[in-house]
Amino acid sequence: MTSASPYVGRFAPSPSGPLHFGSLVAALGSWLDARAARGTWLVRMEDLDRPREQPGAAEAILRTLQDCGLTWDGTVLRQSGRDAHYAAALERLRAAGQVYPCGCTRKEIADSSTGLARDGAQVYPGTCRHGLAPGRAARAFRVRTTSEPVRFIDRLQGPQAQALEREVGDFVLLRADGLYAYQLAVVVDDAAQGVTDVVRGADLLESTARQIWLQTLLGCATPRYLHLPVAVNAAGEKLSKQTHAAPTGPHSLPAALDFLGHAPPPELRAAPVRELLAWAVQAWDPARLPRQRALPAPDRDET
Ligand code: GLU
Repeated sequence: MTSASPYVGRFAPSPSGPLHFGSLVAALGSWLDARAARGTWLVRMEDLDRPREQPGAAEAILRTLQDCGLTWDGTVLRQSGRDAHYAAALERLRAAGQVYPCGCTRKEIADSSTGLARDGAQVYPGTCRHGLAPGRAARAFRVRTTSEPVRFIDRLQGPQAQALEREVGDFVLLRADGLYAYQLAVVVDDAAQGVTDVVRGADLLESTARQIWLQTLLGCATPRYLHLPVAVNAAGEKLSKQTHAAPTGPHSLPAALDFLGHAPPPELRAAPVRELLAWAVQAWDPARLPRQRALPAPDRDET
C-alpha cells in the first residue's frame, strides 16, 4: 500500500454572502491543486466576524461547492466554535511577552503620521508598545513585530518580503469588539488542521507575512503558499458582496478554468461537472496559471 499524500489543502470562505465568481476561482484552484496531488481538501467556514455574517450564506456556499463537484474531505470546521483555541494561542503569546494591550482608538491611529500599509490600512505607530498611558484602558491586544523582513516564496507570485514593523506595525489579535482577528484564527486553524498548502486569492498576499510571523512565534509549521489572481470588475474592484458580485454555480466552471489558464477543450465545456473536473485534475499544471495579482472577470453571463 502506498502511503497517503502529505498534501493538505483548504478553502476558507467567509459567510458574508453567497459564492461568487471570485470565490469560485479560489475554491477551484485550491481543490484542483489538492486533487492533482492526491491530497486532502478541507473546507473551513470563517464565521468569526458574526456582525458581517449573512444568515444562510454558509449553507448556500456549501451547497454551491457541492453542485460544482468541489467535494471536501471530513467535516466542515466552523471558526464560531473555536474561541477557546484562539484564546489559548493568545495567552501563550501574552505569557511570552509578545502581546500587549492597546488603548488607541481608531481615530487616534488614523491621525498618526505613520504611512499606509500596502493594503491601505494605517501602519500602527506603536503608541502602547511600552505600556498603556495612565488612565487608558485596554481596547485591543496587539502582537509585537520587528524590523527584520519576513520572507517567503509564493509558488506563483515568486519571492516576497515584508518588514512588518515598518510596513504594517504591531497588529491586532483581539479586537476592540471582543472578536479574535482573522490573522490569529487562520494561523491557529491552519496549524490545527495540518494544512500544508494554502491556495487562495492574491488579495491575501499582503496578509501572509503576518501569518508567517505568528506561525514563528507559536512554533507552527509554515505551509506553502500560492496566491491566485483575483477576479476584478470593469472598475478594477475585487468581486465581492460590496461590489454586488452575482451568485455563481456550475455554469461558471468553464469560465473559472479559463481564468486559471486551463481552458477546457470545446467539447467538454458543456459536459457534466464530473467529466469537466476529471479533465481539469489531470490537466492541472500551476505553470499555466497567469502570474498576475488581478485579472478581469469574464462577461457577466459566464459568471
Ligand atoms: N476567509 C477569507 C476570505 O474569505 C479567506 C482566508 C484564507 O484563505 O486564508 O477572504
